[in-house]
Amino acid sequence: RNSYDTQDTVVAIASARGAAERGIVRLSGPDALGVVGRLVEVWAPPESPSVLPQQRVRLLLSGAERSLPCDLFVWPDTRSYTGQPSAELHTVGSPPVLDALVAAACAAGARLAEPGEFTLRAFLAGRLDLTQAEAVLGVIDARGDTALRAALEQLAGGLSAPLGELRATLLGLLAELEAGLDFVDEEDVRFIEPEVLLHRLTEAAATLQVVSNQAGQRGDSTRAPRVVLAGEPNAGKSSLFNALRQRYGVEPPPAEALVSPVRGTTRDAVTATLDMGGVACELVDTAGVDGDGPIDPIDGRARRSADRLRQDADLVLWCEPPGARTVVSVAAERRLRVSTKCDLGDENNSPLCGNPAAGGRWATSAATGAGLEELAQAIAHRLASGEDDDSSAVVSHTAARCRESLIRAAEGLAGARDLAAAGEGEELVALELRAALDALGAVTGEVVTDDVLDQIFGKFCIGK
Ligand code: GDP
Ligand code: ZN
Repeated sequence: RNSYDTQDTVVAIASARGAAERGIVRLSGPDALGVVGRLVEVWAPPESPSVLPQQRVRLLLSGAERSLPCDLFVWPDTRSYTGQPSAELHTVGSPPVLDALVAAACAAGARLAEPGEFTLRAFLAGRLDLTQAEAVLGVIDARGDTALRAALEQLAGGLSAPLGELRATLLGLLAELEAGLDFVDEEDVRFIEPEVLLHRLTEAAATLQVVSNQAGQRGDSTRAPRVVLAGEPNAGKSSLFNALRQRYGVEPPPAEALVSPVRGTTRDAVTATLDMGGVACELVDTAGVDGDGPIDPIDGRARRSADRLRQDADLVLWCEPPGARTVVSVAAERRLRVSTKCDLGDENNSPLCGNPAAGGRWATSAATGAGLEELAQAIAHRLASGEDDDSSAVVSHTAARCRESLIRAAEGLAGARDLAAAGEGEELVALELRAALDALGAVTGEVVTDDVLDQIFGKFCIGK
């Protein structure tokens, strides 16, 4: 492919295929604005390098009886998605018109973009790292809401931030080691004490272990689905949590015996592993994150943590006590509505009030145990039938690519540590450290081969 040449100006239809109301043609490259100038009636490229608001222009297409109205967006400098001058032409979504526009752009000096080439350029310009580019790929492929969420979460940083930090630490360590190597013959010049070196390597190995675990979890579609209790304070969430744990709770397998904080929370949420007739789940009470206890309106952090827990949940149990009118902020596919404290309810909120199959609520009482079995069955049924999902495909794709590199990085670090512990020469330690760094770099794309790039970017649609 010739797409590693970013000096060409490329063009592609960026909107979805088929007739639609709006069609988008995207251009990127040094001459993007020049090409635009040749496609539209009287238009002068902007003099200021800032992003211009959209402009209404008219397209000149040969064969067309009249010029077509078109909204033009230009990014004249590096502050674009691709990091180079770019433009988008938004016009009627008719396929023949868009094809004619692309052909006209090619006649005016552009070349047809290859699959994923816009995103590849963004990557080559350092605007995205590889895991983020993969997330863009995920967004494009995403069919369901869950897939989109997972992809966006990955785009927002995910693995790349902690890995980038670790890599920076190791680079610093390597720099110190290598500085010391220049003075290897001078006995008393030491840039880093052996104990300090050993300590930092051990620390780095521990950090890497944590990140690897996270990466593993994300890609692991075999993990138990997460069910999160949500609702206003005092809705009865914690009581329901305890009641369900009492009936269906199981000891987590030994490997998970350590209570792990739920990702994204500032305070630990309380979790229990449940087994409901063969269907396992991790039940999460947002105790301490959802305004249980005194509510501090300034503490938006707790609220965000709870939001995050809900967003990450495979299923949300939305709890409402009798008489409550809450706004349910979770999509229907991902929630079950639960009436709590039904022992207190008046007739309208008795256990008969809900016809869950019709989108009503599952009436329960943590105090009397009424409705718990039915609720558990409903949860199990939902989890078993909702064998989602595209999100795990997106995430496990990245995870699979990462896993091998992370193992190699861990091996390098362990090697470096063993050598340092054995008092071996710093050259040898540096060698292992460098191997670890290369492996880490492969995850986020600092060190990357054309093979890997082809494999990733070849999967994009043209125009992305
Ligand atoms: P959370 O803030 O949503 O976790 O709510 P809690 O579980 O802490 O319960 C809030 C209050 O409602 C407590 O005083 C509980 O005793 C009471 N409560 C919870 N569940 C029930 C129930 O099933 N029946 C009755 N009568 N009271 C309940
Ligand atoms: Zn609670």
